[in-house]
Amino acid sequence: METKQFKAESKRLLDMMINSIYTHREIFLRELISNASDAIDKIYYKALTDDSLTFDKDNYFIKVDTDKENRTLKISDTGIGMTKEDLENNLGTIAKSGSLAFKNENELKDGHDIIGQFGVGFYSAFMVADVVTVISKALGNDEAFKWESQGADGYTIVPCEKDSVGTEIILKIKENTEDDNYDEYLENYRLKGIIKKYSDFIRYPIKIDVTESRLKEGSENEYEEYQEEQIINSMVPIWRKNKNELTTEDYEYFYTEKHYGFDKPIKHIHISVDGAVRYNAILYIPEKIPYDFYSQEYEKGLELYSNGVLIMNKCSDLLPDYFSFVKGMVDSEDLSLNISREMLQHDRQLKLIAKNINKKIKSELQTILKNEREKYEEFYQSFGRQLKYGVYSDFGTHKEELQDLLMFYSSKEKKMVTLDEYVSRMPEDQKYIYYASGETYERIEKLPQTELVAEKGYEILYFNEEIDEFAIRMLMTYKEKEFKSVSSGDLGIEIDENKNDADSEEHESKELFDYMKTILADKVKDVRVSKRLKSHPVCLTTDGEVTIEMEKILKAMPG
Ligand code: ADP
Ligand code: MG
Repeated sequence: METKQFKAESKRLLDMMINSIYTHREIFLRELISNASDAIDKIYYKALTDDSLTFDKDNYFIKVDTDKENRTLKISDTGIGMTKEDLENNLGTIAKSGSLAFKNENELKDGHDIIGQFGVGFYSAFMVADVVTVISKALGNDEAFKWESQGADGYTIVPCEKDSVGTEIILKIKENTEDDNYDEYLENYRLKGIIKKYSDFIRYPIKIDVTESRLKEGSENEYEEYQEEQIINSMVPIWRKNKNELTTEDYEYFYTEKHYGFDKPIKHIHISVDGAVRYNAILYIPEKIPYDFYSQEYEKGLELYSNGVLIMNKCSDLLPDYFSFVKGMVDSEDLSLNISREMLQHDRQLKLIAKNINKKIKSELQTILKNEREKYEEFYQSFGRQLKYGVYSDFGTHKEELQDLLMFYSSKEKKMVTLDEYVSRMPEDQKYIYYASGETYERIEKLPQTELVAEKGYEILYFNEEIDEFAIRMLMTYKEKEFKSVSSGDLGIEIDENKNDADSEEHESKELFDYMKTILADKVKDVRVSKRLKSHPVCLTTDGEVTIEMEKILKAMPG
């Protein structure tokens, strides 16, 4: 039996690939810069084992140049370069990755920085360019070669001149069309933005000429423009640095630089995990509520990096809803990316990371609560509601862990207290955790229903947010103590019968009560003598499980 080879229609394959795998055209620059970085990394690795090579970091960089007149964008690197064969094999064959081969040959398994693996990124250049020219001189070679392609119709390779080892990729940028603007890829400020976004943590300097203006020499009001070469990327990501070498200011600077928020975070969490899945993360608990936090537009999520290259802006799977306020990033080399490097293949690693992060945030909040009470209360002021929603909507899976983070205003302490603090103060004869709901603390304080409980010396938690009571209903108990609304029928408080003989009073006032019942016929179910009132003449109570406050909310709900 004869085995036949599949024939690929490379022209169509290339078109298909270019136009279908990437959602953002701008990532072509991320891909070309990643390749340049890989090429420099390869020299670096070679120098580690080859004594005749020295690696002086200063000589290695990536340069981006534009030429508006000729509509060209050039990305040059001082990396390992490509021989004629390399050009043929790696750029002439779609899905052939010289970088993957390099990793395998050199048995680089862990901790390497080489990014390439799929052998397609290079072709993304055709999303913005009509012609791509590659001029390269390989390490240890005297000759340089020029590879050129217009995409679909194949490529040419000819010898050419190049002084130093390395590669230049020259893109002839497409003309604008009615729908698409390509001119932007000739604007240095725009390129700078793209580089900052995706390639900020490439380990080698990425340089670009920036036009600045300055006072003319000898002049007081005349300005002149001049070109200045700037390094755009931060290079060493803060998350790869040693925690001990970083100050709070460093973390705050990163927070601002990354536009996570305009406030100062109340806490940063720096995580480095070297376990089943390796990752670094820097997370922040913001101080202030982002302006759009409670709107539909707000998107939760963390930035996701693979080996220092941005993959996703907001990876929502990394955060549960109740921690949607957390900002920050995760970088892992263990993610299995899909071919466009915009998405993940499997979410097994991601799930592990998410679980881990979730735990860390929880324990960090607990630590703040324990050691920095004021800070915690500030945080709770901003995001407590989110935690309560978490308890309410999680149907049992996380409420146990979140309940210790809840706080409510206490009638006795006149400040926010945790459930744990409440329970630990309960006198022995107190059966329930009491709460009262109302719009404001002042109003709750004046509720007649609170009188008996307060008189008994029991603490009452004041619920002034709609979610409070719903969350508590989900919890049902805390440390085996049931929650009880002060307006529920049975308060579980023993009342001295002699002092207040309700039965006889009821009998005496029967006429009055009957009269009240007829007047309030459609408003109340019954009028009774109450044993719970001290100074107030009257109060409302509920029969069933729904309290007055909840009834109000349920009535206000649509449908
Ligand atoms: P990948 O980076 O996933 O391997 P690419 O399509 O981006 O795939 O690149 C294909 C191959 O071309 C790379 O693996 C590398 O061998 C080679 N290559 C691309 N750009 C350069 C460069 N600037 N310097 C040296 N080699 C390069
Ligand atoms: Mg690549």
